[in-house]
Amino acid sequence: MKIGKYSIGCGDRFAQEASAQLKAYEKIAGDGINVIPVWNKSNREHEIIGTEPSSVRDAAATAVREAGWPGEWYVDADHINLGTVDRFIKPSDFFTLDVADGIGGSVDEVEIDSFLNNHANLVDHHLDIPGISEPFVIDTEIAQAITRNYLPAVKDAGMIYRHILDSKGEGNFIPEISMDETDTPQGPAELLLILAAIADEGIPVQTIAPRFSGRFNKGVEYVGDPKVFAIEFEADLMVLRYAAEALGLPENLKLSVHSGSDKFAIYPEINGLLKKHDAGLHLKTAGTTWLEEIIGLAESGGAGLDLAKTVYTEAYRQKEALCAPYAEVINIDYAKLPETGVVAGWSSEEYVRALRHDASDELYNIDLRQLIHVGYKVAAEMGDVFLEALTEHRESVARNITYNLYERHIKPLFR
Ligand SMILES: [Zn+2]
Repeated sequence: MKIGKYSIGCGDRFAQEASAQLKAYEKIAGDGINVIPVWNKSNREHEIIGTEPSSVRDAAATAVREAGWPGEWYVDADHINLGTVDRFIKPSDFFTLDVADGIGGSVDEVEIDSFLNNHANLVDHHLDIPGISEPFVIDTEIAQAITRNYLPAVKDAGMIYRHILDSKGEGNFIPEISMDETDTPQGPAELLLILAAIADEGIPVQTIAPRFSGRFNKGVEYVGDPKVFAIEFEADLMVLRYAAEALGLPENLKLSVHSGSDKFAIYPEINGLLKKHDAGLHLKTAGTTWLEEIIGLAESGGAGLDLAKTVYTEAYRQKEALCAPYAEVINIDYAKLPETGVVAGWSSEEYVRALRHDASDELYNIDLRQLIHVGYKVAAEMGDVFLEALTEHRESVARNITYNLYERHIKPLFR
């Protein structure tokens, strides 16, 4: 099993939107560009909603069958670890081994020395990495610090990988390694040594999600300088290509951008660099689809709008608890959230314009958008009432989801 060049992860929190999402991939296929759908749902989302991983595969498989989708597609056990992976093993064929917690963990000095001895060719001399013009040297002290920090995390990845391997067998799943949910970015030097450690662990990693610099808050714009991001991203692409060859990792190894939805400022940079270097990419989206569900409901007016308002009211009431699991990846100024009484009086248009990600709209409220993003637990608690509303307002919900994924994400990234 080898994932193709371009893929986009799409989250479908309530397993209702796989068809609307698949339409976006059909549209880009119609443009002559092959983008692979990967349905991802993290353990955190399953726990908050109270769902089983098999529901993701069921919904995706139905959509794929109904559409007659001819291409690759996968189901991603997103952000799993040794403690949470078991129930994902059967229904998943893409595994995101989240080892961010292992960074900076305890490690034997002997292991650090032996790692650096094994990879003496990477340390303390000029590496000729095609595409990187600056001298690329990792001096010994820096290499030791990086190894001390990241070797424990990669060892964790090895344990999780072998655990999955025992059940699924070699070559029957796509392994991704993620270290994105942490404070300190990993630059090209970190990435190279991390990949060396991954190769030592014998993990045939096909996608890797580093923590890039800047902020990747959920469902909102990138925070940082897109030009600085582009320099780092290009160096990462070059390091990956070099590492795949030099370390014997899979030749389709590609970068994975997590919390990738709505980062409109960096998509043109990514698009240009992928083409310049003929490189692949995986980019994950999740909550952006759930936000389009709420936009579609609000746009419908009447009972749909009322439900969207209830979601806000309840999310506002429970904001501390809803935000806690997402602390690393959101940035909400509570003072800028509208009072629930104000939102209760909004028209369809006012609600949609506050929530829809259009920075040029003076009514757009980035704090409200992030709160709704983490507020899906409220809809889960509504149970059938929420699911029935999605069915009732299907046209509006589906239209917004397909448009958002195709026009605002897939097209700017790949076309
Ligand atoms: Zn992630």
